[in-house]
Amino acid sequence: MVKGGVKTPPAKWLRFRLMRHKNLSSIRRKLLRWYDQNRRDLPWRRTGDPYAIWIAETMLQQTQVATVVPYYERFLDTFPTVDALARAPLKKVLALWSGLGYYRRARNLKLAARILVRRYAGHLPANYDDLLALPGVGDYTAGALMSIAFQKPYPAIDGNARRVLGRLFNLTGEKKLRSAAADLVSRSRPGHFNQGLMELGATICTPKNPRCPKCPLRRDCAAQNGDGRMATTAKKYTGVKAVTWPLAVVRRRGKILLRRRAADGILAGLWELPGGEIRGHKSARACLKRHLRELDGTLKSDLHIGEFRHSITNRRVRSPLYLFDVRIDTELSRPGPNWRWISPSSLDGYPVSSMTRKALRILATYEKSFL
Ligand code: SF4
Repeated sequence: MVKGGVKTPPAKWLRFRLMRHKNLSSIRRKLLRWYDQNRRDLPWRRTGDPYAIWIAETMLQQTQVATVVPYYERFLDTFPTVDALARAPLKKVLALWSGLGYYRRARNLKLAARILVRRYAGHLPANYDDLLALPGVGDYTAGALMSIAFQKPYPAIDGNARRVLGRLFNLTGEKKLRSAAADLVSRSRPGHFNQGLMELGATICTPKNPRCPKCPLRRDCAAQNGDGRMATTAKKYTGVKAVTWPLAVVRRRGKILLRRRAADGILAGLWELPGGEIRGHKSARACLKRHLRELDGTLKSDLHIGEFRHSITNRRVRSPLYLFDVRIDTELSRPGPNWRWISPSSLDGYPVSSMTRKALRILATYEKSFL
């Protein structure tokens, strides 16, 4: 449907319109005014380039703003256009992503860039369904791109926006929230409006202890005025798994042995120190022995040099680190194409897991203690 030259959101969303709030235009105005005065100065807010906005929105899924900023800047310096990303080797893309986590996002960006070059001459299409068809682009990212990059009145509902809307109108359930967001989004400044809603959730309407006296919507808010609940509208807690994941630094002639993970599953395709989750009642050493069984030589002199903590998706990992210094005269060949002896100084050219980077920092500290 086209009204005044602006394409409206799909009818399937409008079907569920449940909001009959008399103050919608006042809420829009207040939120936009607050956003204009309070928005954080972030690098992706200084550009109108849909490609740069797509990269930022993809990085911001699952990752905090402060972490994303340096990655975003490095990524755009290296791959300034869709075309540059489409031509880049996947290994280089993953290496730049290294440490940001959820590596499937980087693979999908690369896949999508190739599609954009083939089908859209290297541009992002200004069409919701075409965006949604790209790998890694879901409802949120398509809505964010339509509103922020193309100024079309589509909602973009992340966890922060979901929480604000839930409290503001006392709503739960995805259909009602989506309907409310579609009704509420500003027709004239949809990108600023959506970013304002998310910014309000990130800085004022926080999950715990929202700062309601500072909120521009406090007079309209059901939760604040006693008509609703201070619902967090957080997704159902799925549980956290505590795991022990020992790692081995196998070192010979100043090089260390890395292996590449399988092309699917967690940390897919990244290079890492050998090791893995302990299953059953095995000890860390027994677990490492299993992971190192493909090596020809016998690795005996292991040394526990430290440990660290790490989070991967829902796993809270404790990772003890063992050093295996291999004597120069020991025969030890590379077990297969997915294993490689690497000099620590050349690590930056490899997509390496964050756990392995942490482990190698512990190794460097351990070595310094002997200087
Ligand atoms: S008044 Fe409080 S609960 Fe309501 S939207 Fe603002 S910060 Fe959130």
